[in-house]
Amino acid sequence: MEEELKRLGQEAETELNQVADEAELEPYRVKYLGRKGMLSTVMRQLGQVPKEDRPRLGQRANEIKRHVEELFDIKTAELTAGSAIQLQQEDLSLPGRILPTGKLHPVTQVMEEICGIFEGMGFAVAEGPDVELDYYNFAALNIPEHHPARDMHDTFYVSDSILLRTHTSPMQARIMENLDPPLRYIAPGKVYRCDSDITHTPMFHQVEGFLVDHKVSFADLKGVLTSFTQRMFKDDIALRFRPSFFPFTEPSAEVDIACVICGGSGCRVCKRTGWLEILGAGLIDPEVMKMVGYDPDTYSGFAFGLGVERIAMLKYGIDDIRLFYENDLRFLEQF
Ligand SMILES: [Zn+2]
Repeated sequence: MEEELKRLGQEAETELNQVADEAELEPYRVKYLGRKGMLSTVMRQLGQVPKEDRPRLGQRANEIKRHVEELFDIKTAELTAGSAIQLQQEDLSLPGRILPTGKLHPVTQVMEEICGIFEGMGFAVAEGPDVELDYYNFAALNIPEHHPARDMHDTFYVSDSILLRTHTSPMQARIMENLDPPLRYIAPGKVYRCDSDITHTPMFHQVEGFLVDHKVSFADLKGVLTSFTQRMFKDDIALRFRPSFFPFTEPSAEVDIACVICGGSGCRVCKRTGWLEILGAGLIDPEVMKMVGYDPDTYSGFAFGLGVERIAMLKYGIDDIRLFYENDLRFLEQF
């Protein structure tokens, strides 16, 4: 019994030294000094020791308990004083800490800006599936099987007839198939191509737009795109339309703006030409019209597609597309 008391006293002292903060005080008190604590439990066993040993052991037990209580009080004072001092050192009149708020990704910001400009011109927004049928991605856009234009798309195939869309143009076929003109739509979204370097990522964003009505001409297309470019970049920006080829438009054009870096005098970004390509466009091919059951003699329309990352890079002077997807906050927080 005497041995047990001694051992318990030492154990209580050792453990008290390890108590490091206020929160640990109460569990410690319950364990050793509480009514059901270890010291009380030992003292209750005094009734079982021989009568002649009881007074001596009782006194010894009380001494140990008092000693532990004293040490406990000192420890309590130390720890609570510590937090009082800490409280004094903090200036409670200081304003609260402001939590950092997140921002929209630069690509999302530019995408919203592009959509906003077209919505201002009366275009409605339509979104479609990223996993698309080969039919809508190619065949319905006048790119039949084995057409050489398929090679330009570096397509990710899911199966023979299902793929990750390589452009947002499938929405043009999907909408025209279900609705009658007049139509004015843009289709923003992610597209996928098996390609990666400083100007290409396997996933990027496009905004496809088209308009179908009676007597739509190339002049209408020029008007809409000029208006868009001026709002996106600046009011007096120069624009040029270069003849090009796309299977789903005829005639087709690629649209350049005067280099935003050098203003047209020639620099590394515009490869000394003074021009930067920003989008592809054209009048909707009569074959595409027939595919959805429109009479090309009654209706005509134009379509265009632009790369969102490309526009964002030109707008902000970014020279590597991969920066958008590295999630480096030092880069992202600048927008
Ligand atoms: Zn330039």
